[in-house]
Amino acid sequence: MDVDIEDLGAPHRFGADDAQAIQTQLLAWYDANKRDLPWRKPVLAAALAASTTDTATATAVVADVRPEREFASSSTAAKTSASSAITRQARIGRKSSRARPGLPSPTAPRRSTRAAARNARVSLSATSPPSGDEQSARETASEASDSDAYAAASRSDESDLSDLDDDEDDEGDARSQSRRRAARGPTAAASSSAMPTVPAGIADSPGQRAYEVWVSEIMCQQTQVATVIPYYQRWMAKWPTIFDLAKADLEEVNQVWAGLGYYSRAKRLHEAAKLIVTKFDGDLPRTAEALEKEVPGVGRYTAGAIASLAYQQPAPLVDGNVIRVLSRLRALGGDVKTKSVIELHWTLATELVHPDRPGDLNQSLMELGALVCTPTNPSCATCPVQSQCWAYHTKRADCQCAHCKTWSGTADKDAGVTQYPRKSVKKPPREETIHVALVQAGDKFLLTQRPKRGLLAGLWEFPNRGELVDAQTAVDAVGQILDVGDSAGLKLESLGTVVHLFSHIRQTMEVYHVVISTGLDPVDTADACTAVLDAPAQWVAKDGLDQEAVSTGMKKAFALLGKASKKTKAAGSAAPARASKRAKVASDPKQKSISSFFKRE
Ligand code: SF4
Repeated sequence: MDVDIEDLGAPHRFGADDAQAIQTQLLAWYDANKRDLPWRKPVLAAALAASTTDTATATAVVADVRPEREFASSSTAAKTSASSAITRQARIGRKSSRARPGLPSPTAPRRSTRAAARNARVSLSATSPPSGDEQSARETASEASDSDAYAAASRSDESDLSDLDDDEDDEGDARSQSRRRAARGPTAAASSSAMPTVPAGIADSPGQRAYEVWVSEIMCQQTQVATVIPYYQRWMAKWPTIFDLAKADLEEVNQVWAGLGYYSRAKRLHEAAKLIVTKFDGDLPRTAEALEKEVPGVGRYTAGAIASLAYQQPAPLVDGNVIRVLSRLRALGGDVKTKSVIELHWTLATELVHPDRPGDLNQSLMELGALVCTPTNPSCATCPVQSQCWAYHTKRADCQCAHCKTWSGTADKDAGVTQYPRKSVKKPPREETIHVALVQAGDKFLLTQRPKRGLLAGLWEFPNRGELVDAQTAVDAVGQILDVGDSAGLKLESLGTVVHLFSHIRQTMEVYHVVISTGLDPVDTADACTAVLDAPAQWVAKDGLDQEAVSTGMKKAFALLGKASKKTKAAGSAAPARASKRAKVASDPKQKSISSFFKRE
């Protein structure tokens, strides 16, 4: 059941006094309790600010987010990359300091930039970092924009881009001055250092903040904050500005993203960065409407986050945490998967946006959902908005308004406040089985690349097949890939089974090890694979697999080989017995040959 979205749930709306009280309580609580997350402060500006007073501190700030691999390979290259990034950052600052309608104080950053360029330049150094914890995340084939089920409602066709363009002439003089300053080069103090330079005051421009917020928001979709932190830090160290990201190779982007899951997000970020650089000179649009309309992969939630957090626009946002908090605050019993109920949450979020601190208010709502109003064990006793919470005070518990009637289940009143939010039962994920071959020649393994579109687009994987492949085609392909002529005699050693969960698929991987000992030319076989399967292929050394953009599921499959090797070593003294067992397996007619491996099940 759905209802007219024009009927905006009057019984559940905030009155002006209620909204003001909640704003005050939430902001006070947020100021005292907000977590120190890397994207809550300007990343580049923090590094530069530190470097103005203490080179060692600046070094540490940058090092903290610099990828280990990059430094292991070439510290010089890293410095060069940082230099070009910072040069481009100056362009961001010039563009971002333009006056914009509706912005709080467009002259402030401009003055800051001028003063900074006149009086000081700062150096930014780079050195080796600690390695971050690689954490895996569940992956998905979801191609939904913004990965956000809550962003499905209304979408404005209006854009404020014409307003932005109208400001070009006003800033012409400022841009000319900036160019002249840049042409003069670094000051004597900076010249004494070999480090790249950037005018102070540029890096904390709204445009740069928009890029930093944008990356963090895309990463945090469907992924826990603790998982995102090391990925975000490595990303910002590698591509500190949108110009750096626009110049990156998709392969490289996938490598940095690998393990974070939901890979289509990385691809869209990369594509959007290129578009923003070419179409908007690197400046993300300033309003939620324009962001949603112009930036691929930015849905309603992300647009609200960028507009309010980076540009201080009074834009609401609604994510899972906000849905939970609002539905409890106003005892909204409707199905949160229905359009009208989603829209009602957006209306409630709009009523709470603070005119002077929109970004902080939005973050306080999300933070309350993350730390206090949690899904199963909310801390109502210490909640700053307890006095306003209808779920806590069991107000409108039996509401029969049109919105609440969109949910047809039976309320579990014993669940207290956790009976909200209510949603329809989720469909179980589809079951799928694939067969994965870890094909090894020497110390190298064969990888093929997935298509550029669809599930895990562009990632590398071990050759695999499901049930729907034509058997003869697959067998022929394998013979050519391995360059062994008759593939029928090859044996596969089973390594076992591993399960990987996508958002809508429960995938069981049956994993096999194929060792090729003679007659292989890795280049030829990779070329053959590319030609026959119409997919790029390469042989990668075992130690280099971590450097490739390999999906988390395939990494799990590969881990089975490590476990098997450990077992083999542990059974060292029983080697003769094991060899005998292998011989038995090889002669076992039930053991799969490489031909049968690819046959239809
Ligand atoms: Fe959530 Fe409890 Fe606070 Fe209500 S009182 S908003 S249910 S934590």
